[in-house]
Amino acid sequence: KLATSIRDLQKHYVLKSEVVRALRGVSFDVPEGDYVAIMGPSGSGKSTLLNLLGCLDKPTSGSLLLGNDDIALMTDNELAEIRSRRIGFVFQSYNLIQQLTVVENIQVPLYYQGAMGSKQHRRSVELAQRVGLGDRLDHRPSQLSGGQQQRVAIARSLVNDPYFVLADEPTGNLDSVTTEEILTIFDELNDEGRTIILVTHEDDVAERAKRVVRLKDGKLHRDDVNSPAVRQA
Ligand code: ADP
Ligand code: ADP
Repeated sequence: KLATSIRDLQKHYVLKSEVVRALRGVSFDVPEGDYVAIMGPSGSGKSTLLNLLGCLDKPTSGSLLLGNDDIALMTDNELAEIRSRRIGFVFQSYNLIQQLTVVENIQVPLYYQGAMGSKQHRRSVELAQRVGLGDRLDHRPSQLSGGQQQRVAIARSLVNDPYFVLADEPTGNLDSVTTEEILTIFDELNDEGRTIILVTHEDDVAERAKRVVRLKDGKLHRDDVNSPAVRQA
């Protein structure tokens, strides 16, 4: 019921009276529980696709269904609502608020909904524990390693029970040991049924996904299922 369905998605930008066709008819489905890595050369449309999936922008044509909601038909206010309630974002640079503690950072998306009581606090503590930061609840980002900060960001992305977690190069700033730790968390979340969509240019990150969607010149170039043997290697 929370499937994402992309049909003939096109996105054109107008730049000095020139039309840039960033996405030129992309179609694919992301069923609930999928784990998709999006790859492709620079300029192939990955950021554009991520912006559309993240409800930060609207397609020029085609449809993008999040569950029953077609984002192409929504107002900017409706998009903002979906973005804050139904999509989890994880960034390469973590994007934590330095003045806030671990638990407070995890709660940030809930502020936009007004409700902020003991129930919300308990959920944030549980998510901190979930990502292995149960003993760091009152630490601030500057007191944490990069990997720990990314764990906070992952917990924050889950606090609204999103349609999917959208991750943009989530291990781009991490060494290989820490990358492995973060990918293990994604594996576990996906095993629990969470849908994950990440953009990466690293093959060993993409191998952990169930599926690799490759873009080229604004089109879907390949859509490959990773074999379980590869995923475990
Ligand atoms: P990728 O993330 O794969 O590098 P992008 O989605 O950023 O690809 O870009 C796809 C194409 O769209 C490129 O040709 C890029 O220059 C162009 N593009 C992206 N954003 C804009 C914009 N805001 N205005 C004009 N052209 C853009
Ligand atoms: P990068 O350094 O990888 O380009 P950005 O911070 O520019 O990272 O953001 C990458 C993507 O994250 C954007 O293309 C967009 O999809 C999403 N994004 C950026 N800012 C926001 C925001 N304020 N809220 C939600 N998503 C965002």
